[in-house]
Amino acid sequence: MNQLPPSFPDFAEFPQGEVWLAGAGPGDPRLLTLLALHALRSADDIVYDALVDKRVLDLARDGAELIPAGKRGGRPSPHQGDINELLIARALMNRRVLRLKGGDPFVFGRGGEEAMALVRAGIRFRVIPGVTAGLAGAALAGIPATTRETNHAVILAAGHRKADGSPALDWQALAATGQPIVLYMPMAQLAEIVAALLAAGLAPETPASILHAATTPEEIVVEADLGSLVMAAEKAQLGAPSIVIVGQIAALRGELLRTMVPWT
Ligand code: SAH
Repeated sequence: MNQLPPSFPDFAEFPQGEVWLAGAGPGDPRLLTLLALHALRSADDIVYDALVDKRVLDLARDGAELIPAGKRGGRPSPHQGDINELLIARALMNRRVLRLKGGDPFVFGRGGEEAMALVRAGIRFRVIPGVTAGLAGAALAGIPATTRETNHAVILAAGHRKADGSPALDWQALAATGQPIVLYMPMAQLAEIVAALLAAGLAPETPASILHAATTPEEIVVEADLGSLVMAAEKAQLGAPSIVIVGQIAALRGELLRTMVPWT
């Protein structure tokens, strides 16, 4: 941070025994915040999720301990309780603990649960927001979250079910708002969600896109409409991490990409 002007706010030192819950953005390491960079350069222990880019971890200071705690749908992953315990144990050892998660730590990332576990254990923590995949991935694919012509709200929704297998959301109620829906973790339940949205009255012509591995070199964008989305997803064989965007904003991409320049 030494090239910043003196008028710039200070980056507080990372105190021993604190946990910093940070977001690393959706993929492209250049989407890190300055606070996240500061945290990476100061932390003793970095407990990171599977979606965090290796080049982000390269920013860790020499000697930092890198601890994978990847949570990834369908694969064996540490239990949330174990991750909470690890963060608490390391903080109690007076380590400077950076918990680094994909996107924003408080958007479908269990960061909120981790924060509450830290509170219960009496551990001081700070939050470093990150750039969330559903908004930044969309923007960089040429899909604005809002325009006055298309929408006045945007719904960020999780595609997963509740632990007991029942739907976590009332899709009919969401469809009735007429606002675009940005789905996180949608692929396993895509057919079910699309059927519910169609049954709720959304037209099969409603634009819908899949953004896979947004902002990374592996990015794949599939443009479809609600009626053909499930078939398009099966054909492209896209798994996690993918975002699905349903609504008129998805159709703006063609126009934006006429002169929008990618950050290659
Ligand atoms: N905290 C994260 C979301 C964690 S949930 C955030 O704010 O972005 C994990 C889900 O996020 C994935 O299943 C996928 O739906 C989405 N996601 C994360 N990174 C992504 C990426 N680069 N491209 C597409 N989807 C992504």
